[in-house]
Amino acid sequence: MTTSYYTSLHDCPGLLREGLPIITYHKLGPRPPGTRLKGLYVGEALFRRQLGEWRDAGMNPGSLAEAGTADGNPQGRVVLTFDDGFENVLRHGLAPLREHRFRAIQFLVADLLGKTNEWEQREGEATERLMEPSQVREWMAAGHEIGAHTCTHPHLTQSPLAQAREEITASRRKLEDLFGVPVQHFCYPYGDWNPAVRDLVAGAGYLTACTTETGVNGATADRLALRRLTARYASRNWKNLWALVKRKLAR
Ligand SMILES: [Zn+2]
Repeated sequence: MTTSYYTSLHDCPGLLREGLPIITYHKLGPRPPGTRLKGLYVGEALFRRQLGEWRDAGMNPGSLAEAGTADGNPQGRVVLTFDDGFENVLRHGLAPLREHRFRAIQFLVADLLGKTNEWEQREGEATERLMEPSQVREWMAAGHEIGAHTCTHPHLTQSPLAQAREEITASRRKLEDLFGVPVQHFCYPYGDWNPAVRDLVAGAGYLTACTTETGVNGATADRLALRRLTARYASRNWKNLWALVKRKLAR
C-alpha cells in the first residue's frame, strides 16, 4: 500500500515558504488503554513517514532561534517541537529523527521530570511517564534541544501573577542548573497566554515562546508568541493538515 502523507505540498499555496513553520507534537507510539485525547499520539511509523516526506519536499531542520528573524522561508526550514517531555518520544522518536537527520526540541515540565502527566490525569487522561534527567541527557546527546514548559503545567493566565512569574523563571533556572545548558525557549502550557504573561516571559530572558495559535512565522512574527502547526492524528497527511490550517486561519 502506498499512502502519501506530507508529499502533496503543492496543495499548500506557499504557506511553508511564507515563514518558518513550527510543528507541534506531543506523544509518539501506541496509545495506552483509556486514552482520551487520541489525537495527541502519532505512531512511530507515521512519524517516520512524516519526517521522510518533509525531506522529500526539500525541507530541512531549523531551530527556534531563527524564528521571526527573516522574511519567508527560502531555506525551507521546519522546526519540530514536542510539548511536555514524554518518555515515549525518546523511545519512538530518536531513531526516526536520527534516520532523517532532523533536530527537535522538547519543552520540559521542570518539577515533573521522571514523574507522570499529573495535569492530564486530573482530567481523566491515561498515565504517561515523563523523561527523567538521565533520559533528557540522552535526548540532548542525540543532538536535540530542551526548552521550558513551566514547573507544574498550570494555566498561566489564571494563576496569580507572582505564581506565574515563579513558574516561568524557576523552570528556566532549574533546567539550566540540572543540564548545564542555556534554556532560551519557552512554551505556554495549553497555549494559554496574554500580554501580562508574555511580559513575564520577556522578563525571564527567554528568546522565544511558542503558542498553540495556527500559522507560520515571518519577519514580523512576535518571537514571544510564535505560531505553530499541530501534527495530530487528524492532520496525519498534508491534505488534512492544510485543510485544518485553512479553517483556522479563516476564523
Ligand atoms: Zn503542555
